[in-house]
Amino acid sequence: MGKVVFILGAGASKEAGAPLMGEFLDVAAQMLATGAVEPVASAFTNVFRGISALQVVHSKSQLDLVNIEAIFSAFEMARTLERFPGRDASEIEKLVSDLKTLIVWTLQNSFGVRHRENRLHGPDIYSRFADLVLHLRDRSPLRKDVGVITFNYDLGLDLGLGFAGLKPNYHLDSNDGQGIPLLKLHGSLNWGACAKCGQIVPIGLADVLNRNSLLRMSTEEFFLNPSGEFQRHTHCGVQLSQEPAIVPPTWNKEDYHRSIAAVWRRAAGELAAAEDIFVIGYSLPRTDEFFRYLFALGSAGDSLLRRFWVINPDASGSVNDRFQTLLGPGAIARYQYLQMNFSQAIGVIQNLYRTSEG
Ligand SMILES: [Zn+2]
Repeated sequence: MGKVVFILGAGASKEAGAPLMGEFLDVAAQMLATGAVEPVASAFTNVFRGISALQVVHSKSQLDLVNIEAIFSAFEMARTLERFPGRDASEIEKLVSDLKTLIVWTLQNSFGVRHRENRLHGPDIYSRFADLVLHLRDRSPLRKDVGVITFNYDLGLDLGLGFAGLKPNYHLDSNDGQGIPLLKLHGSLNWGACAKCGQIVPIGLADVLNRNSLLRMSTEEFFLNPSGEFQRHTHCGVQLSQEPAIVPPTWNKEDYHRSIAAVWRRAAGELAAAEDIFVIGYSLPRTDEFFRYLFALGSAGDSLLRRFWVINPDASGSVNDRFQTLLGPGAIARYQYLQMNFSQAIGVIQNLYRTSEG
């Protein structure tokens, strides 16, 4: 059975309502101003002060202070170096932790779940994506195995697949298990970490939903708070840490447990086995060295590859250029750039697999 692999970036969750990296801080500031994140307002304020302090450094270097991923990387690096303007080591520690809180709350408040016709629904775009996965797996003339790799921390994909009856399998340990591989390379809002051994412990969506959805039976959208469940789960006999396991793109691998390495390994395996790869809403930022290595090593034997399509609304040519530079001769022959958004891409891809040539 042929394998189809989707690689989804922030552009995919944009259509669900999540901010892109470059507008993330504006959205966070807006949420702070409107009182939407009241329980964690002091964490937001601390992060904005930290960013202001970085302006001092900015005059001497090229830090991109509007991009949340660049800020995350800068704060993590400050922690490693124990250097940050006007802060000691414990204050830097707090800054990194507050930044994670800001990322988590901004994302979890940007889209939620609603009741409709006696069922729960996540964002429409991810329901449509889950339909596409079902189509490829069960209904297309040549049935396909499907794997999904994502850089997004949010739960849009998890909800879409889960509500369609497709169990996402995170592959956090080497046991294969059932379900659609959902490989979250940078972590996830519902992944807790053991405070003792560092093992990543995913909280099932049913657990997250039960507690939240019982409270509201209206049609109003409600937001999920997966990290609120961490204290109810234990590992090594202790409660999980309060922070979710999310990794900045310029990762310091010693900080993260081997369970995330299992995810990366599985992702490389999916790329190696792929017949068709669709990259949607991921612009291959120059800072994301990790993906370059993953792709180069994962796709080392490209013989199976029939399609490598990059789907992105970018019309400037820069995303297209970056991918062309990434690909080796085997993949470039199979490469296409489609300038369109996620919803348009779902229709186009569905059509591809309508016939037995798909
Ligand atoms: Zn443990």
